[in-house]
Amino acid sequence: MKRSLDELAVLGGTPAFGEPLHVGRPNLGDRDLLLNRIGDILDSRWLTNSGRFLREFEDRVASVTGARRAVAVANATLGLQLTAKALGVTGRVAVPSFTFIGSVTAFSWIGIEPVFIDIEASNHVISPTDLSAALEQHEVGAIVGVHLWGHECDTDALERIAADHGVPLILDAAHAFGTTHRGRPTGTSGRAEVFSFHATKFVNSFEGGVITTDDDALADELELLRNFGFAGYDLVESGGINAKMSEVSAAMGLTSIEAMDRFIAHNRHIYEVYRGALGDLPGVRLVGHDAVDDQCNFQYIVLELADGSAIDRDELARVLWAENVFVRKYFAPGCHRAAPFADLDHRALPHTDDATRRVLCLPTGTALSEQEALAISSIIRLCLENANALRGGLDRAAASRSSGSLDRR
Ligand SMILES: *Cc1c(COP(=O)(O)O)cnc(C)c1O
Repeated sequence: MKRSLDELAVLGGTPAFGEPLHVGRPNLGDRDLLLNRIGDILDSRWLTNSGRFLREFEDRVASVTGARRAVAVANATLGLQLTAKALGVTGRVAVPSFTFIGSVTAFSWIGIEPVFIDIEASNHVISPTDLSAALEQHEVGAIVGVHLWGHECDTDALERIAADHGVPLILDAAHAFGTTHRGRPTGTSGRAEVFSFHATKFVNSFEGGVITTDDDALADELELLRNFGFAGYDLVESGGINAKMSEVSAAMGLTSIEAMDRFIAHNRHIYEVYRGALGDLPGVRLVGHDAVDDQCNFQYIVLELADGSAIDRDELARVLWAENVFVRKYFAPGCHRAAPFADLDHRALPHTDDATRRVLCLPTGTALSEQEALAISSIIRLCLENANALRGGLDRAAASRSSGSLDRR
């Protein structure tokens, strides 16, 4: 454990960790089970196109989410696109800016531009109040909610607003597999919910996504769209595309779901370790995963830095990177300020702008130990409890670097 500022790597000390620690290092299920399944796939020579493991994986996702139907696809981005196509969405979509860029580019790539909506300050999900305000000014073809950090958005309010405006509600549930909201599993709200099983998500199928819905007709259409629109050997019924998940991915997804309870238990423990170590530290807030009637999958540890400290979020991130702790500034600078959308006129998004300046995601997952979480916490505490002195140290280090570069000229 580092006890004084001069031990920090950014000020010339040795990095606290020899190996880099990451946010979203993949969780792995039972290796032998997976390899046996891959052996079965090779033996059967059924590698993709609705094979046995795809159907088993879809059944498991349906049972975890409580949805009638689950349609597996190559990734969540294609899942969002297929959903928009199947629902006939055109024009623009209302979507939060404080989300992974793929929530928005999935739509803009098929010609559906965003109307950006602000978030709730407390848990960073889309604000129904701001959504209503936006819809007074802008016409949209759909509303997209994102269950950020595995916190379900206020789906009741969003469904009411969607019904009032006669547009479908689509949910980007990429962060929310295995979560519940008001006692119900996430996966049956809106017209459809789209989960990601990308390697960095807490349950993964290498790459993958699943669309869940209670609407049989919609699910049937999605199954056509993901396979070029083929309804039989030679019969093309819809203008589809290739969005299929392979059998190896489905086998990985299945194996990963079987280990899900272990992943959640580990993540919850790491969350509690961080909370114990940082909960009382002035100047930071750990975004809570403790809502009484909601269950989270604890896949993100989200720290928010307050104003008034001598060091800001970017400087704290730089200090931690030097220690080999690859914290992430999700989702700075906000999609509305990212290159594809920065030139569009956008609405004022004060809570989004605020969150993009303050949020830091810390490493977690089964590859991270309790000791590592404690060591990361102690570095954060050291920095924030000695922020003025650290500020001086960083300034002196920068000054000596620039005079050094002058000398070398
Ligand atoms: C990861 C992610 C996506 C994209 O998922 P892919 O399966 O990688 O296409 C979309 N939205 C959010 C919020 C995500 O975190």
